[in-house]
Amino acid sequence: MGEGVVTRVLAGFFDVAAGNEVYRCRARGVFRKRKTTVLVGDRVVYQATGPSEGWIEEVLPRQTELVRPPIANVSQAVLVFSAVNPEFQSYLLDKALVVVSEAQLEKLIVISKMDLVSPSALDALIAPYLKADYQVIPVSTKTGTGVSKVKSALQGHTSVFVGPSGVGKSSLGNALSPALGLKMGEISEKMGRGKHTTRHTELFLIDTDTYVADAAGFSQLQVDVRSEDLRLFFPEFALFSLDCPYRGCLHVEEEECGVKQAVRMNQISALRYENYCQLYDEVRHREETRY
Ligand code: GDP
Ligand code: ZN
Repeated sequence: MGEGVVTRVLAGFFDVAAGNEVYRCRARGVFRKRKTTVLVGDRVVYQATGPSEGWIEEVLPRQTELVRPPIANVSQAVLVFSAVNPEFQSYLLDKALVVVSEAQLEKLIVISKMDLVSPSALDALIAPYLKADYQVIPVSTKTGTGVSKVKSALQGHTSVFVGPSGVGKSSLGNALSPALGLKMGEISEKMGRGKHTTRHTELFLIDTDTYVADAAGFSQLQVDVRSEDLRLFFPEFALFSLDCPYRGCLHVEEEECGVKQAVRMNQISALRYENYCQLYDEVRHREETRY
């Protein structure tokens, strides 16, 4: 018996990776009856019955469970956004940061296509995120800059890549593992054509204990945070909110707000603050129209 990770779920079969081996496994009747589902990313105990076949005996407890896409034990989200072409989409990035923080994932921001902008333009774009203490890696798959840094940041994690189409996810995936790039490319091509495809999520082994899941659909990104909690997902607000008139300050309509003051003083990025306000309105609107 050994421990492995489910990298693919097929009809009635599961691919279980253990070291450099992959075992195509069936699940034991016992836990099929108990209706335990096996997800990609699950750590399992398996019994090999041949050089590349076996049984799954047990699903080990999950650390995390994503619903869309359905993957177990994802520990990190890699948010890929291009500096240009397509234009840097800070609102989508800030929204994605909230979503993945809520899911309790580690966050890595990758700014792609850095070869297409000047160093000062790149700095201006990144500065607000560094100020908020996010990990940011600029990359270019054209020149290869930053790719090895991304690779080390993936180490030991099961990561999921998210980002709008056309930002260079497949190119980056390809630089990390050709098989991953190929799969990501297929997906963005299908999404670009607007086709609804039933796709199978798959994990790719990048290095020992290091997996990347193919890119998830980005269109359905939904913030599930209550409007009054949204401010907690903008870490750079915390320090300045001590100067707010009261603890529950939402930093929107309030006078004498410490966060608004910090925006005026350039201590908090105006763009991040605007995105907060827009996201706040979006969430409020949904709350008001829910009933
Ligand atoms: P995806 O839809 O996010 O998977 O994006 P792709 O990897 O398919 O890339 C979209 C386009 O951007 C392709 O034409 C790539 O050649 C180009 N591209 C990707 N990465 C870079 C980069 O670092 N620099 C430049 N200049 N172009 C890039
Ligand atoms: Zn305030």
